Amino acid sequence: MKYLDEYRDGEKAREYARQIARLTTRPWSIMEVCGGQTHAIVKFGLDEILPKFITLIHGPGCPVCVTPLEFIDKAIEIASRSDTIFCSFGDMLRVPGSASDLLSVKAGGGDVRMVYSPTDALKIAAQNPGKEVVFFAVGFETTAPATAMAAHQAAERGVKNFSMLVSHVLAPPAMEALLSSPDCRIQGFLAAGHVCAVMGCAEYAPIAAKYRVPIVVTGFEPLDILQGVLMCVRQLEEGRAVVENQYSRVVRPDGNPYAQELIRRVFEVTARRWRGLGQIPASGLRLRSQYEGLDAEKRFGLAGRATAEPAECLSGLVLQGRIKPVECPAFGRTCVPEHPLGAPMVSSEGACAAYYRYRNHALAAGLSNASAPEKVPQLSGQKAPDSGDVAGDELHGIQFVEIPDEYWSGSVKEMRQRADAIMRKQTSALHPELGTIKLGSQKARSKTLGHMKTPHEFQSVQAIPEITSKGRVTTEEDQQHRPDIAAIHKVERNLKIGESKYKAKAIIRETKDGSKTTQHFYLHRIDPAANRKAGSPYCVPSSCDENSGPASHNQSAT
Ligand code: SF4
Repeated sequence: MKYLDEYRDGEKAREYARQIARLTTRPWSIMEVCGGQTHAIVKFGLDEILPKFITLIHGPGCPVCVTPLEFIDKAIEIASRSDTIFCSFGDMLRVPGSASDLLSVKAGGGDVRMVYSPTDALKIAAQNPGKEVVFFAVGFETTAPATAMAAHQAAERGVKNFSMLVSHVLAPPAMEALLSSPDCRIQGFLAAGHVCAVMGCAEYAPIAAKYRVPIVVTGFEPLDILQGVLMCVRQLEEGRAVVENQYSRVVRPDGNPYAQELIRRVFEVTARRWRGLGQIPASGLRLRSQYEGLDAEKRFGLAGRATAEPAECLSGLVLQGRIKPVECPAFGRTCVPEHPLGAPMVSSEGACAAYYRYRNHALAAGLSNASAPEKVPQLSGQKAPDSGDVAGDELHGIQFVEIPDEYWSGSVKEMRQRADAIMRKQTSALHPELGTIKLGSQKARSKTLGHMKTPHEFQSVQAIPEITSKGRVTTEEDQQHRPDIAAIHKVERNLKIGESKYKAKAIIRETKDGSKTTQHFYLHRIDPAANRKAGSPYCVPSSCDENSGPASHNQSAT
């Protein structure tokens, strides 16, 4: 193929989907690593033409999104200085910091300039010798060579008023960190083609071998992605786990040795904190000692600071592929591109921006008129540790959705009305992949709610939209008993309600007429040693162990 539109041919795309369907015998979950791939998937609806056994998980591949909040705050602090010209790629300007963003600094009189390359910033430094000129160097291996080139030129020419705020990250360590997570559900990767164009494919082979996951280096056009999925599924079905190169028209096995040498000359590998993923060893680049004079963190005394991520933004879960953007309670309500709460909603490669722009704009507009919860469940894993070190449990254990006590308050009648409204309005809206989910008859719902006596039980009901995340399980056995059933979706989420930890599960039945019904809602207590704060009808003492079967609650009967 020669022209771009040939890589967007609809009939060829459908043929790839048919080939994948013919090959697939069981469910597979594949993560695309790059935000550009995510945008193509959502924009062209590639996930919707794939067989339903194939789940595409969006990964932490947006460089703007994974830049931690503390770096945004540092950028804002530098940009606010009257003696400084702050230069950045355009995407970073609207990313919210703790209290402001770079565009607001510019509106307030700060000299913030959008540039297309770090060498543009170097030129600005040469033209403005009386000002400090700082370049915000973010991105993966793809942009690191250009940053290295600017650093090298600045050092060679002795440009004293130029420095860099460096937050470059490396893709393979993040993929390995995700695979190391105990509840990882990634079975294959589409690696980012542009990263491999620079770095080559060799560093992925040990990951594929160690974790037994196929890794297919993939491009960014629709046919690239579908071919990448096909190659990945073929490996999975054949029980193979090796690195393959779909993007061979661009990526050479050894990458670009000149760019690699440039990176090596200027940078050394270091631990780096990622938004939503926490601190990952050997996952970032920092300036070598001979270039440390260019380090803006040192020049402006900003090293070692850490900032807590905002609790209302679930970007950590989005970036880990644990939820889709529409499952964030703020999506389309309090978080829209004009007023983003987090980077994924504002970056051109952000997953939230992709869903808002291409898929759920209408849904989001509708939701913004609905009554939003007064408080949003917080993620314990998103709290920044005091030491500025590893972010909580994020990659080292089970992640819990924390539901604060005060989230659910008022009279029993008010709680019941709220629970009922949330169940009816939000579940299907937050999970469009499951379509409209019926929640049983009014009678059944009232009966269900009537059994709930304590705030924690109402919190459990409130949590139903939170637990319907993903996962589709359809077995022949299921279908033998109920020939009208097209699929059974089993979805689960870890919850922390008060001091107690639970694994919540919902089962959603999808019938062949297209209707989906929440059949069961289970709540397994998984920390039996902890004191129970409230007696729950979902969790009787004899069945509170996760392995001993559910203390089940029939959400509605079908
Ligand atoms: S929708 Fe907004 S608040 Fe939610 S995860 Fe995305 S950026 Fe954060």
